[in-house]
Amino acid sequence: MNGNMRLTRIMGIDIDIHFTFFLLLILFFFLFGPKGLALIIGVFIFVTIHELCHSLVAMRFGVKVKRITLLPIGGVASLSQMPTKPYQEFLISIAGPLSNLVVVVVFYYPMCWLLGRDVLMYPLMVILGRAEYTGQLNVWAHVYWINLLLAGFNMIPAFPMDGGRVLRALLSSRMSYRDATKIAVRLGHIFALLFAYFGIVYGHIFLVIIAVFIYIAASNEISQVEMVETIKSYSVQDVLATEFVYVNRETPLFKVLEMTFHTHQEDFPVIEEDKLVGFVTRREIIYGLHEKGKDAKVGEVMRTDIPPIYVNTKLHIVQKLMQKFNTSAMPVIKEHHVAGVITLNDINRVYVMMHEK
Ligand SMILES: [Zn+2]
Repeated sequence: MNGNMRLTRIMGIDIDIHFTFFLLLILFFFLFGPKGLALIIGVFIFVTIHELCHSLVAMRFGVKVKRITLLPIGGVASLSQMPTKPYQEFLISIAGPLSNLVVVVVFYYPMCWLLGRDVLMYPLMVILGRAEYTGQLNVWAHVYWINLLLAGFNMIPAFPMDGGRVLRALLSSRMSYRDATKIAVRLGHIFALLFAYFGIVYGHIFLVIIAVFIYIAASNEISQVEMVETIKSYSVQDVLATEFVYVNRETPLFKVLEMTFHTHQEDFPVIEEDKLVGFVTRREIIYGLHEKGKDAKVGEVMRTDIPPIYVNTKLHIVQKLMQKFNTSAMPVIKEHHVAGVITLNDINRVYVMMHEK
């Protein structure tokens, strides 16, 4: 996501902050002064701890954590992939809310001792309607109780909350992954509608924004899972074009450009003496034409880090590899010879065709 600023790095994980987060700081500063600022910072320290706990458990299962991004609506840990085993997803998902619950339990007596029980309990009493709100704000007490809110909110058993993943993991043991996802997503939609309803009725705009976010994120989850499930039954040879063209290191870029117009192929294997020596995608061609001119050679811009894939590779694996190598196309080989090019569009087409009824 763009608009991020590197804040710090903890245990090898970048902690990024989205620029809109600063709008939240400014808003709270104007509403509550320096105390408002301290409140937001305090809350986000615990949001970061929450995300770090997800990340640490994920890393134990060999999942790479790229970064943690702090957004005004909360934190997001970007995992390279979700583990396939339900119990791993269960443990990763529950670690976040659990960390907030641990904070609530462990700090209860120290906070009572520091602030006095009345001051500590006051925010909770206000929320429960047992005490009148007097405009007083004890930042420490608020930040403490936010942990209970974080634990509670995230354990709502619906996508995209952590509780939704926990629910899916539990359901996965007795039904398909896809059906389990469907249930958690449908619950996400129901909660989103409930939040929107209460947000509108009680005039809490923030709740409406959260509702919209939950609805969209829940929908994304099911389309992602359905895509993987659909393309799982197909392999590269099912969609590979029967004809393809290739280039060599010495081919000038303007020739390659002409080829894209004549063949509708936008990514080309670079072949020399019947061997694959590189790969150029649309991105390298455009970059080369702009930066090096039309007479530049393929060899100057080709990529050598994209591995060829075998014709019998399943499409969902290809999709993952494309993400890993940051490319929208890959060369395909069959019996040691280049057999063509597979693109993200080829994969998407399978999904679209299977869902058009
Ligand atoms: Zn979480």
